[in-house]
Formats: sequence, C-alpha cells, structure tokens
Amino acid sequence: MTPAPRERRPIRPLSARTVERIAAGEVVERPASVAKELVENSIDAGATTVTVRLEGGGSTGLEVADNGMGIPPDELELAVQRHATSKLAPDGPVDAIDSLGFRGEALAAIASVSRFQLISRPTEREVADGISVVGGKVTGRFRSPRAIGTTVEVGELFFNTPARRKFLRSPAAEQLEVVRTVERLYVARPSVTYRVESEGREVVSLPAAVRVEDAAARVLGPRLLNEGFPVGGSVPGGTVSGVLGRPTTAAPNSAGLYLVVNGRSIGSRPLAQAVRAAFADHLPRGRFPVGVLRLELDPSRVDVNVHPTKREVRFAKERELLDAVRREVRRGLLASPQVADLAPERGPVPAPVECGTAGRSGTRLSSTAPSSRVQSRLDEGPASPPSVPTASGAGRPSLVLLGCLQAIYWVAEADDGLVLIDQHAASERVVYETLLRDGRLARQALVEPATLALTGTQAAALVAHEEEVRASGFEGEPFGPTTFRVRSVPSYRGRRARADALLELLDELAAGGRPVVAGGLRERTAASVACHAAIRAGDPVEPEEFRRVLRSLSELPESAYSCPHGRPIFVRFPRSRLDRWFLRTGP
Ligand code: ADP
Ligand code: MG
Repeated sequence: MTPAPRERRPIRPLSARTVERIAAGEVVERPASVAKELVENSIDAGATTVTVRLEGGGSTGLEVADNGMGIPPDELELAVQRHATSKLAPDGPVDAIDSLGFRGEALAAIASVSRFQLISRPTEREVADGISVVGGKVTGRFRSPRAIGTTVEVGELFFNTPARRKFLRSPAAEQLEVVRTVERLYVARPSVTYRVESEGREVVSLPAAVRVEDAAARVLGPRLLNEGFPVGGSVPGGTVSGVLGRPTTAAPNSAGLYLVVNGRSIGSRPLAQAVRAAFADHLPRGRFPVGVLRLELDPSRVDVNVHPTKREVRFAKERELLDAVRREVRRGLLASPQVADLAPERGPVPAPVECGTAGRSGTRLSSTAPSSRVQSRLDEGPASPPSVPTASGAGRPSLVLLGCLQAIYWVAEADDGLVLIDQHAASERVVYETLLRDGRLARQALVEPATLALTGTQAAALVAHEEEVRASGFEGEPFGPTTFRVRSVPSYRGRRARADALLELLDELAAGGRPVVAGGLRERTAASVACHAAIRAGDPVEPEEFRRVLRSLSELPESAYSCPHGRPIFVRFPRSRLDRWFLRTGP
C-alpha cells in the first residue's frame, strides 16, 4: 500500500499529553536502526528514490539521500527537536496513523549520538539549506546546491557514547544488517527505488516494482518466483496477499518470512506462527516458510503504537485474524500443484509384493536406477560389511545394505533387525565432523565456472563471511555488483556440492547459520556448509559410498547419532518389534 502523497504539514511540537500516549524507548542501536528511521522518513516524504551510502558499514558514515518533498529552511532545527513532527497534529490522534513515523524522535535521537547534518531543498526553493549538529547541539547553518529532496549525514555514530560504540560489530556485519533492513523496507514499499552503496561502490540496487512478487524475488532470490505460490483472500477487516515458497524452499529459521502490515514491515511471532501452522505436515520440524505476506487492514484494527521502533504491532481480535491468515495460506499451499502431489496417499493399503521384485509405487525397495545398481552390487556380496553404531547405542553391530528406498533412505540389515538410514543426514554428519576437525573442506574446480545472481543480503553475507565461505570450498570472484562467478565448489571424497548451494549457504550465514543441537557460530557455519556439501536426498549413491559414510560414522562418538540439527540418522526396528507387528510368537 502506498498512501497518496500528503500535503506537507509544518513540523510542530507534540503536546505533553500526546507525548505520554506514544510508546517511548531507544530507537538507535546500530547503523541498521539509523538507516531504518531515515529511509522511513524518506518514504513518508513521498520519495521515489532513496540512496543509502555507507562507510565502515555505517559506523563511520551513513548517509540517506532522497527526492522527497524536503523541509523548509526555518523548520530544520525543529526537525531535530524531540517530539516535534509534521505527521501528527499536536494533540493527536495517535490511533489512526498513516505515516511510518509519528513520534518526532528519530532525528533528535540520531543527532544526539553522532556528527550530524540535515540538508534539504523543499519544492519551492532554488537551493538547499543545511544544519550541522554535533552530539545534539546545533553548531552551524549552511547552503549548498542540491536537487529537490533531503540528505541526512550521520558521521561517527556513538562518538560521544563509547559504551554503546563498543557494541558495534565489524563493518561487514553492520553492512549486512543495513542491507537486510533496506530489503525489508523495499518489500513493504516496493514502489520506491532503493540503492545501497558501500565505500563508494553500489552493493544493492532494488528498482521500484509494481508486483509484490517481483520485489519478493529480488530479495529472496528468483527461486521464490519459480517455486512459490500466491496467497490472496480476505480476512476480517481487510485482505491478505503475497507469495510464499513451497516447502522445498523452506529455510532453517524464520528470517526469510517478510511480514508487512499496512505498508509497514513488522516482526510478529504470532503472525509468523500462523503462517508456519498453515504448512503443518508439509514442513519438517525446524524448517520455516519463506516469502512475503502482506496484510491490508482497517487502521482501527492495528495498533502500531506499542513499540518504540514500531517493529511490532498489536492486532485487534487477533485470534480471529490469525485463524483467517492460516486458512488463506493453507488454501494457497494446497492449490499449488507440486504440493497437491505430495499430499499423503489415501486409499487401500498397497498389496504386498514378493521379495526381490520391484513393486508398485510406495512399496518398492529397489526400483530406481541407482538403487538397483546398489542391489546388484550387493548380490555379489559386499566386500566387507561396515560396522556402525545404531540409534539405541547398544553395541556396534554390522550392517548389510539391502537397498535404497526412493533414493532417500538406505535399508540395511543389522544383527538384530532392520535399520533405516537417512542418507542425507548420515552424509551431513560426516562432512560436518570433517569440517570441524580440519577447519576446511576439499575443493574441486569446475570445468565451466557457474555464474550466480546474488540478492543484496547474499552479496553482503559473502563479504561478511568471506573466510568461512572460502574454508567451505566455494571459490570464485564477483562478476558485477550482484553476480558471483563460482570457480570451485566443496567436494567431499569425490562428491561435489552444487554451485548454487552457495546461495543457500549465504542465506543461512546471513541469518546466523543453521541452528545446531549445541555450539556457537563455528558449529552453525559448519552445519550450513555440511548440509550443502553432503549427499542429498534423491542423489544416487554407489555402494562404496554407502560403506564409506557408514565407516566414517562408526568412528564418531555415540552422541553423534543425529545430524547436526538434531534429525536422527538411524531408525532401528529390532526383530522383536517386527515379530510383534506380525503377531509372531514362536521363534
Ligand atoms: P517523525 O518521522 O516521527 O516525524 P523524525 O525525527 O524522524 O520524526 O523527523 C522529524 C520531522 O522531520 C518529520 O516529521 C518530517 O517533517 C521531517 N523530516 C525528516 N526527514 C525528512 C525527509 N527525508 N524529508 C522530508 N522531511 C523530513
Ligand atoms: Mg521519522
């Protein structure tokens, strides 16, 4: 939703009574929060292009320039005064707010902890006027040529509050956060063109988009468009719309779900949970939907005045709204063709097949090409059956591979029954341990370098996590501001990762890495790399590889029987349980 450009109102101090009614608190924590406030001001000023320039990730210098309606010269000082705003009348009301800002605090807060300049040329003027503010004190006034619009320059953030400066992270990490913030704003207001430059180089360019799908694809990667499904429908008091990724594109955390309420990008656990709930049985534990979901609601149903940075909102009749959102998302999900195919099969239980013959779908043990290859090799008898620990941890019985189920599970015979092994989880655990032990993975050069289109977050994550990415085995070089040419990929004993697994790895690194059962950043990073370098569900596997993975697993401590994120590697069906199932009492 892009509100029609408003008539500009003068900046006036809010009355004491109104100030008491707005959520108070600190809005400036780091460069990204400064960028958020400044870009929101540009949007409120009706700008169609906004440029964010960073030095030192925004900690040394952060500038936001727009082509909005500007500020008259005699209101510049008011603009940096606390609780002075052009967006609310002095006496409110504070409950029908149609602008992103309304508290009149951001510029004052930012100017009090930086070396600050506000330069603006309103529509009716020939030249721009500016003021300098140091640590909150106006120190000077000047004129300079400028096109219509406003520039805010924030130098040396927290120069006068060293305790807060200490908490700033590396330039690359701060830049990454700024980029994510701008991407969130873009998804909420895609009718504006946004650019981010760092040390004079363009790092992100987000051209104005008419369709939310196009904006979503720019931010979440083009895969979302190809593998996403639309959501659209009515909810009590408004509408819901957007595009979400199908379960196959789900992410390890909820950072890939962008929520927009009345043109405002928000965080909302209950809303995110409602979306997650709609995916219910279609997403394994620990996976979260990605995409953009927009709610347009009657303003009386949304309270934006509950959080100082307005990152959270409160909904009236929340339960009813969340139920409706869940229903609409579910409807979109089930209507998307690929998901409909995945729905659990109903109908008669398939007829049993004879041992050793390929049966019909759902009952076969060895009907895919790769698994029959495994089968035929096993017919010759495995050279040396590997010995592996089992899920129960009791002893280390030998396993003999019987076959492979739909290129996802290995089926093996243990001394005391049947064992199913998740081929991806098993391989992932082995790669993960190797990476933690050796600090890096082997790499394999690609014959043909692969060119990948990066989103802004991915490009920023590549800079922020250069070392981890290189240690993982991915190597290459930038090829234009938003493309990367991959020259080598991780390889693990002859198996190569896909080049585009780098994109998933970058998404995860940007979001802080895969959650793992235990461990810090190093473990989380290793888990991300392992996931993308490991054998995938669906990959054909040679018997030697099966043996090798199991042998490596058998060398791990027994605590490592799950993949790094806690999914089990083995499931055991002891003979005694099989006997119970078949109501067999005798030997
Ligand atoms: P708020 O946005 O809550 O009003 P701010 O401190 O962010 O408070 O801004 C104070 C005032 O300065 C705004 O109300 C607006 O009138 C003016 N202002 C700030 N940034 C811009 C901009 N980029 N373009 C035009 N006016 C601006
Ligand atoms: Mg503001």
